[in-house]
Formats: sequence, C-alpha cells, structure tokens
Amino acid sequence: MENAKDLAAKLLYKAPHAADAQPERMAEVQAFCEGYKKFLDQGKTEREAVTYSEQLLKEAGYRPFVRGMQLQPGDKVYYINREKCILASTIGTRPLEDGLHINAAHIDAPRLDLKPMPLYEKDDLALFKTHYYGGIRKYQWVATPLALHGVVYKNDGEKVEIRIGEEAGDPVFCITDLLPHLAADQNKRTLADGVRGEELNILVGSLPFADEEATERIKLYTMQLLNEKYGITERDFIRAEVEAVPAARAADVGFDRGLVGGYAQDDRSCAYTALMAEIECTNPAFTTLCVLTDKEEIGSVGYTGLSSDFMLNYIRKLAACTGADVVEVLEHSRCLSADVSAAYDPTFSDAFEARNSTYVNRGVALIKYTGSRGKGGTNDANAEMMDYAVRMLDKAGVVWQTGELGKVDQGGGGTVALMIASLGVDTVDLGVPVLSMHSPFEVTAKADVYNTYRAFATFAASEV
Ligand code: MN
Ligand code: MN
Repeated sequence: MENAKDLAAKLLYKAPHAADAQPERMAEVQAFCEGYKKFLDQGKTEREAVTYSEQLLKEAGYRPFVRGMQLQPGDKVYYINREKCILASTIGTRPLEDGLHINAAHIDAPRLDLKPMPLYEKDDLALFKTHYYGGIRKYQWVATPLALHGVVYKNDGEKVEIRIGEEAGDPVFCITDLLPHLAADQNKRTLADGVRGEELNILVGSLPFADEEATERIKLYTMQLLNEKYGITERDFIRAEVEAVPAARAADVGFDRGLVGGYAQDDRSCAYTALMAEIECTNPAFTTLCVLTDKEEIGSVGYTGLSSDFMLNYIRKLAACTGADVVEVLEHSRCLSADVSAAYDPTFSDAFEARNSTYVNRGVALIKYTGSRGKGGTNDANAEMMDYAVRMLDKAGVVWQTGELGKVDQGGGGTVALMIASLGVDTVDLGVPVLSMHSPFEVTAKADVYNTYRAFATFAASEV
C-alpha cells in the first residue's frame, strides 16, 4: 500500500515557491531585474517606453519594417504605430501560414493627464487641472512627489518634449491633501470618494510675476517660466499630451531584495519580459510578434489601442511580403496575452479566494480567464490552449502558477486577450502577479518577472 505522502505527491498539486523550485537561478533572477528596473525608470509613459524599446531593438540589430521588403528566416524587424505602440518580429524558418507566436503586452499605465486648459491660479497658488487615465484609487495620488512627462506642439510646428521631476535637482510637483486636524468632514466621505476627480489638482507654482498692478501674477509667472524653458504658451497645452506620474524610481523591496517596487509594473513587467524574449530569440521556427500596445487601461480603444486594426494591418503587410494568406496566418497563430494578475495580499485576504489566487514568488501566472460578473468580458482560453501552455512551460522548466482575479463577484477586469482572440487567434493570459496594482508604487517578485521572461522566451523559440 502506498503511503499518504507518496500518494499526495503523485495526485495533489500546489505551486512551489520559486526560490525552492529553482534555487540555482536566483542569482540570474537578481541580474535580470537590474535591466527591468532601468526599463521602468526610462519609460514612464507609453511614448518613452516605445523610444527606449526602439533603442534596445536597434542595438540588437532590428531594422524598421518597410512594406514589401524581402524577409529571410532570422531577420529582425520592428514597426512603430504613432510613437505609442511598437511591434517587433523575428522571421521564422516555417512559412508564415503556419502562424505567428504573439506576445502582447501594454505600455500605458494609470496616471493623471493634464486637461487641455490646465493652468490656473487660486488663492496665491498656481495649479494644473488633471483628468485621470485608467483605474486609479484617487486617494493614493495625493501628497506624493509627481513628475511631468509628455509632448507639446508649438505654433511653429516644433515638438517639445517635457520630462521634469526625474533627475536629481529637478523640481517635483504634488497634489495637496488636508491635514488630519481639519479633515473631520473629509473623513466622513467613503474611501472611493475621499479625494475626488476635480480635487486632483497639481501644485506647480507659488511666486508672483513682479508687477503688483497685474492680476493672476502667479499663473503669469509660471507661464513665463514654461515659455522660457519650453517656448510654449498657454494655448499650446491644447495640442499637448502631458502626464503626471510618480516621481519615485524603481527600487528593491525587502531586506532580501526579493521584490521590485515601482510605478507602472502593470504592464511594464510583461512588456520588458516580452521584449527581452523577442530580442534574444534567434532563428525561431514560427515567426514571432512582440506587440507593446497603448490604451489597454481605458479599454484598448482608439487608434493606438488593440481594438483598432494596427496589429492586424502589420500582420497583413508582413504576409504580403511573403505572399502568405492572412486568414491562414491568423488561424494558425497563438498568443500569450501578457498582462499582470492580482497577487494575493495577506492584509486584504478577504478580497481573494486563496485556492485560486496568484501569489508573489510562485512564478509566472497562467490565467485561463479574467472578466467580471460571470466571466463577462473575458477571452476564457479553452482547455486545449491551456494544455499547450502548461506543456510548454513544464517542458522548459518555467516556474508557473494559476489563479483568477479575486473572489467571484468581488470586481474583475480585462486584458487585450479579447481583442487578439477576436482575430481567431488561440490566446491565453499570462503574466506577473502584482501587489498594490494601479497604485503609484506597485510591487512584484523578481522571480516572477524572471519566470515570465522565460515563459515568453520559451514560447518565442517553441517548435510547436
Ligand atoms: Mn494590465
Ligand atoms: Mn491595469
């Protein structure tokens, strides 16, 4: 008769801690995440993430994709959509009709966008009005240093880039909050209502233009400084995209340095790992497609979101280069929809169902479905695609786990999986578990980031 321990080992399952599963890889885990933290600091907006990704691709020998170009197996090309999305491919040895291996992550993140007419003066302070982008808990964005990133077009057509609050010596900006002594009324608000959208006003100035006869002198002086530094006028904010993001840099978290803390790890943890996997892929069987997209956080809408045809058009153009039938290409393609999952938080365990949650340090999370209210708005990968992914991860020795986004009916969310699945591509969600997701300081485990990279690299190089 078998003893219980042996039988349990054979029949029962629990995802191991990554450090127990692969102690020999923990040094490599640390090294890999140095590049990751740099990626987080260099690319705090979708435009900056594209610029930095392009730089990494060019250094790795990628050429800009041009319609009609001759493509040979092993060739590496990239394409940029409106400075906010980047697509990269390594041409496979198999014909394109055999399908693509797609890794799709997003590079937009929750933040505060300046309104078209942001600058105003009130009671001796100059402030910027903002409109938040994506799902934020508004109270998390007050009383913390913010940096401003973006572009402004001037009357003469010149594009001015703004990036202030990041370097040592730069000024930073912030949203003020009430002192506890005077917060009696505010404390009666619910947490969701504690800080309101129209209260997310960024403090940007306090000194007046030196003419006591003038009105709105603090606004005027602030605008004068902006004009001196960037050559812009108030009217130019109408043709600008300026985003306020946390000024803090990515950092190791914990005495053991096992975690990374930083802004926009949803979904840069998947974008960086997908990009590294793409870059390091040489002579794959299937042509790869790494797509880093914009607008996921507001529903993948618009011409830089995956609801538009920009990725499909790239595939069409790629297919045209080799005379491949696009329907065949799509029908035989597979996609890892690379997005983060909610990591189980012991402090707020009530929001999770422990048996079906993802945990930091248990490896990359393979997620069959996301969505809300009875799987509404999810891709829900079929068992065959789950089998494909499990088999692939097991074969490569990737540390992985599974789970879903919190308790049933607790809330929910979606990813780009829907949009890619709607092209008829076999798609499953896979990514890094994140603590404090959508906050100014999200936390991931380095071992999970590393194993996510290994999952994407395995998929890019996979011969099946
Ligand atoms: Mn995401
Ligand atoms: Mn998100």
